[in-house]
Amino acid sequence: MSARILVVDDQEPNVRLLEAKLKAEYFETLTATSGIEAIEIASAEQPDVILLDVMMPGMDGYEACRRLKADKRTRHIPVVMVTALDQREDRIKGLECGADDFLTKPVDDIALFARVRSLLRLKVVLDELRVREMDGREAAPGEADEAGTPAWALIVAGDGRSGEHLLAKMPPHIESRLETDPAMAARIAASGVDLLVVDLTTPKFDGLRLCARIRSESATRQVPILAIVDPGEIERAVRALDLGVNDILHRPVDAGELNARVRTQLRRKRYADMLREQLDESLEMAVTDPLTGLNNRRYIASRLRQAAEIAANGGPAVSVLIADIDHFKRINDTLGHEAGDAVLRQFADRLRVGLRAVDMAARYGGEEFVIVMPDSALDQARAGAERLRAAVAEQPFLVPGGGVCPVTVSIGVAQFTGSDTPESLLKRADDALYRAKALGRNRVEIGLIRKAA
Ligand code: GH3
Ligand code: MG
Ligand code: MG
Repeated sequence: MSARILVVDDQEPNVRLLEAKLKAEYFETLTATSGIEAIEIASAEQPDVILLDVMMPGMDGYEACRRLKADKRTRHIPVVMVTALDQREDRIKGLECGADDFLTKPVDDIALFARVRSLLRLKVVLDELRVREMDGREAAPGEADEAGTPAWALIVAGDGRSGEHLLAKMPPHIESRLETDPAMAARIAASGVDLLVVDLTTPKFDGLRLCARIRSESATRQVPILAIVDPGEIERAVRALDLGVNDILHRPVDAGELNARVRTQLRRKRYADMLREQLDESLEMAVTDPLTGLNNRRYIASRLRQAAEIAANGGPAVSVLIADIDHFKRINDTLGHEAGDAVLRQFADRLRVGLRAVDMAARYGGEEFVIVMPDSALDQARAGAERLRAAVAEQPFLVPGGGVCPVTVSIGVAQFTGSDTPESLLKRADDALYRAKALGRNRVEIGLIRKAA
């Protein structure tokens, strides 16, 4: 993956220098020499990272950053502020404008590439979530930042004393807890923390190892990590970033900067969580029938294709049931559409109770259901269908208003053969269903393969 980096600096030589460094590492570069130009290019070209000079005539870097983060076309692009001075106020001001990171001039190459790589990794994940988020709802990092949203952080330090110092500097609205045992810390993290602050300066344990473990375990892969290093330890900071640590703070830790960085990490996490939730929701909606909560026709179609393949390759037997509620139209006509819906929902409940965990049931159409039964030959499938038929007929269904209504179901059963397509199999099951209806309903019929004459 070649990433595109937008370099913004009013001084032409500075632009050329950074450009040359980045090109040497095979990054593509774009350049701008003013805040206004940077905003235009960012919006038109959608770079992957922006390196933004702070001191520029006209619109300075802070204002440019603020505008980039306020615009929905550019707010997802990470911004690294490049400052001449390593001033605490500047950094905090930058973070408050929405900057994702900082570099101090003259720019140290190793730090530059580590920061860029780390931000790119994060952006790849967020972009993927943004793209996969199908319904096109606008979601932005800023919108997820509800002040006062409860969050809890775990601080991992070598000893109680330095830990207490960190604890005292954490933002007051965040519930923070201290842990000095790394194994315990990993376990607590897996139980669902919003942020980890790991002291990498302690000789008591290998903080980098802990960070690697946190990143490698699925329960904690998404938890943001803030690492604390000594100012001279560039190599350790770079290794931490390469291991997936999200941000670095230098000792002695400044409370204002810690606050700003913690807020940035939590804001990003909430954004990512929200995107992930929306994605889960839309994926779920794509495969679920809203009335019954069963799978929908689209989903079961893909399982039928799988089943046909299994059968074609001589795998274990797969059978399919088509169940159609008897005289359902009458229920609607006499008791109302609401009652019909209630019956459909309860029918789905009885299906769920009666099936094995491996069986897959779907609402195929109005009052028609398809059930795929893996590892089942015709006899087992017929027995399953018979149990379902009995479970429906045994107990009348409840309808709104407190009444009850007797319901029966007819079922056609067929087993996949090696030459079946989903269509031919469904046709055989459907023919059996039709026979069950013709023979008086409330019965199970088997779809038999007619021998070639
Ligand atoms: P048979 O025993 O031959 O299957 O008769 P039937 O009345 O069940 O079959 P028919 O196909 O004639 O009628 C099905 C009815 O199901 C017609 C349609 O209005 C109703 N229906 C389809 N979807 C829904 C739904 O989501 N809710 C409700 N309440 N009714 C539905
Ligand atoms: Mg029917
Ligand atoms: Mg029908």
